Amino acid sequence: LPVTTALLYLNGVSVVFDGFRALNNLSLAIGRAEMRAIIGPNGAGKTTMMDVITGKTRPSEGDAIFAGRHDLTRLDEASIAQLGIGRKFQTPTVFEMHTVEDNIRLSLKADRRTLPTLFARKTAAERERIDALLERVRLKDQRRRPASELSHGQKQWLEIGMLLAQEPQLLLVDEPAAGMTDQETADTADLLREIAETRAVVVVEHDMTFVRDLGVKVTCLHEGSVLAEGPLDQVSADERVVEVYLGR
Ligand code: ADP
Repeated sequence: LPVTTALLYLNGVSVVFDGFRALNNLSLAIGRAEMRAIIGPNGAGKTTMMDVITGKTRPSEGDAIFAGRHDLTRLDEASIAQLGIGRKFQTPTVFEMHTVEDNIRLSLKADRRTLPTLFARKTAAERERIDALLERVRLKDQRRRPASELSHGQKQWLEIGMLLAQEPQLLLVDEPAAGMTDQETADTADLLREIAETRAVVVVEHDMTFVRDLGVKVTCLHEGSVLAEGPLDQVSADERVVEVYLGR
């Protein structure tokens, strides 16, 4: 992808921890409505890459250009979130004591920092947005239940709904299918594909069945750089990829 059309462009990014290169001259471009699956053996640098994009880790070299003009390597985490980059960690983080609906409402209002308004009357516009979000993440029928009563998979969806409430342009998702039932896994692949119709999604994933389900371009990292990139069939048939997976 040319730099100007990519939503995210990592250019020669290196991260060094005590002399060890967790990322080594990593370059990668993600399009505006693209979903990309990131695979690679343990220690390949997947988490470090996400940390660089969200501003948690500052690279020693390279830059990370977002929307053609913001260098993420010069911004702090809060400013990066404000630009429209949302990250979902593997363990769901929801407000267990609140209902599903109030979790979504809180996220809609999160930028206003006025917690009391969470329990004020809903406006019609707000109601519509909540309904659309609940529908999207397949939780409309669960809206009145406390989040604590949801299944693990449903909590993952709720958190995705909370992130979507913030209207991210780029959503980073870490192993969304871990611990899910087969049905939930298939539904999650559908959900992510729907989300990627209008925004970019980067999914770090170990489960190759799930990656196959996603049906998107795959980037395999190894020792902090891109080892192979392309359709899953092509990447998984690549000799070097086979070697790094079998070699461990
Ligand atoms: P992955 O997510 O692909 O398993 P990581 O990005 O977590 O890989 O880690 C890449 C390498 O960097 C690993 O060898 C890991 O031990 C090392 N690493 C990650 N974070 C740190 C840190 N804060 N300090 C030292 N080494 C780290």
